[in-house]
Amino acid sequence: MKLLFEKSVPGRKSNYLAPCDVPAVTLPETISRKIPLNMPELSEGDVARHYSALEMRTFGVNDGFYPLGSCTMKYNPAINETVTSLPGFADIHPLQGDKHSQGMLEAAYRAERYFTEITGMDAISFQPAAGAQGEFLGMMLIKKYHEDRGDAARHNIIIPDSAHGTNPATVGMCGWNVVNLPSNPDGRIDVAKLREIVGPDTAGIMLTNPNTLGIFETDVLEVTRIIHDAGGLCYYDGANLNPIAGIAKPGEMGFDCVHLNLHKTFSTPHGGGGPGSGPVGCKQFLAKYLPGLCVQKTPGGYTARNTAAPRSVHSFHGNVLVFLRALAYVMTLGSDGVLEMSAHAVLNANYLMKRLRERFEIINKGICMHEFVITMEKEAKQGVSAKDMAKAFLDNGMMAPTMYFPLIVKEALMVEPTETEGKETLDDVADIFIKLYDTLMANPETAHDYPKTTVIGRPNEVEAARNPRVQFLG
Ligand SMILES: *Cc1c(COP(=O)(O)O)cnc(C)c1O
Repeated sequence: MKLLFEKSVPGRKSNYLAPCDVPAVTLPETISRKIPLNMPELSEGDVARHYSALEMRTFGVNDGFYPLGSCTMKYNPAINETVTSLPGFADIHPLQGDKHSQGMLEAAYRAERYFTEITGMDAISFQPAAGAQGEFLGMMLIKKYHEDRGDAARHNIIIPDSAHGTNPATVGMCGWNVVNLPSNPDGRIDVAKLREIVGPDTAGIMLTNPNTLGIFETDVLEVTRIIHDAGGLCYYDGANLNPIAGIAKPGEMGFDCVHLNLHKTFSTPHGGGGPGSGPVGCKQFLAKYLPGLCVQKTPGGYTARNTAAPRSVHSFHGNVLVFLRALAYVMTLGSDGVLEMSAHAVLNANYLMKRLRERFEIINKGICMHEFVITMEKEAKQGVSAKDMAKAFLDNGMMAPTMYFPLIVKEALMVEPTETEGKETLDDVADIFIKLYDTLMANPETAHDYPKTTVIGRPNEVEAARNPRVQFLG
C-alpha cells in the first residue's frame, strides 16, 4: 500500500474554503517557518480511501473476539458516542463559567456520586488521563499525608510480584522504593511474608484485587489491617474493576485510595493510545489533597470549585468526554446492571477456562475472576511457545490474548473474554484454541510461520526494535 506522500500529485487540492476576506498578516520572523511545509497534495476522495483502506487492515473489538487480559476489551455501546457528541457537552469550554455549563456540571456531579459509591470512597478526582497517572496521583496523596504528619521515615511501597508494571514504575517516579512481596504457590499474597517486611519505613501498599492472575485476594482485610497497624496507607489499583463492580468495594476492603480505568471497565474505546481516564477516589482524610474541580449542588444550580489548586495533574476536570461515556454506561446499566456486568464477566471467564482445561495447563486452580492465565512452558520445550500460539490466532479472525504477562508465569497467555460475549462466541473461541493447539503441537517446526493470512506476516521483532524505520525517506 502506498503512503499519502507517494500518492501526492503537485497542485492537487481538497480545499473547499472560501477565499480569505480579511487582511493577511505577516508573522514575526521568530515564529515563521524556515523551510516550506512538506505536505502531500491529494483530493479529498483519495484521502478518504486511504484511511478506509488502513481501517480495514486493523483489528478492533467491533471486528471480532478480543481476549486481551488485564485490559477489558469489551464492546462499547454506541449510545455513549451519541451522548458525548451532544453540543452541550462536546462544544463547551471550561472557562465559560458555571452559569453556562449547568448540564456538564450536573453530569460531573452525578459521576462523582456514582463512582464514589462504586469504589466505596468519599471523594474523587477525574483529572488523571490514564491509569498510570492515577497511580501517580494516589502515591502523591499518600506522600503528602505522611509529610503533613511530619513522618519523613517512610519511603517504601510494598508491591506483590504479580503487579502490573506501571505500579513499580509509579513508585520509582515518586522517588520511593519498591519492596517486592512474593506470592504463595496458589497465586495469592503471602501474608506471613507481609508481616515480616512491614515496618516504620513502610509508606503503604499497592494492591490489585483480583490480582493479575485473575485471583481474588481472600486475605485482603488482613492485608490492609497489617499495613494500617504499621502506619502505612493502602492503595487499590482498580484498573480492572470489571469482576467486582457492584459486588465488592475497595473502600470496604480497607483501602484509602483507588484509581479506576474508565477506558477499561467503564466502556471507553481504548488501545489506540487514548484519550483515557484514570480517576482517583479517596477517603475523607485524604480529600483535601485531591486536585481537580469539585462540583457542588446549591439552590441556585451547580458550581465548580477548585479545591486543591494549584496542585493538578491535568487541566480542569480531566478528559471530560471519557467520564461522560462512563456515566452514560453506568446510568444505562443501573445498579443491578453493574452487578450483572461483573457477574457475567466472571461467568464467561470460567466457562472458557473450563473448556480450555481440555488441552491447556491453567494457572488458576479453582474458579477465576474475570480472567485466567495459561502457561505454555511445557509446550515451549517441544517447540511451540506462547508467542507462536498468539500469532496463529490472527489467522482465525480473533485477536491474541495478552502474552508474557504477568511476568511470574512462564510462557503466559492471559485471557479475558469479558461479559459482552455470548456462549456461541465462547464456544467458537474454545474450538479455535483447541484446533490451533493440536495443529501446532502436531507440527512444531511450522509453528513459527504464523500468521499467514494477515497483510504483514511475522515481523523480525529484534530487527524492528533495534533498527526501526519510522521515517518516510521519499
Ligand atoms: C492497564 C493497567 C494499568 C495502567 O493503566 P493505563 O491507563 O494503561 O496507564 C495499571 N494497572 C493495571 C492492573 C492495569 O491493568
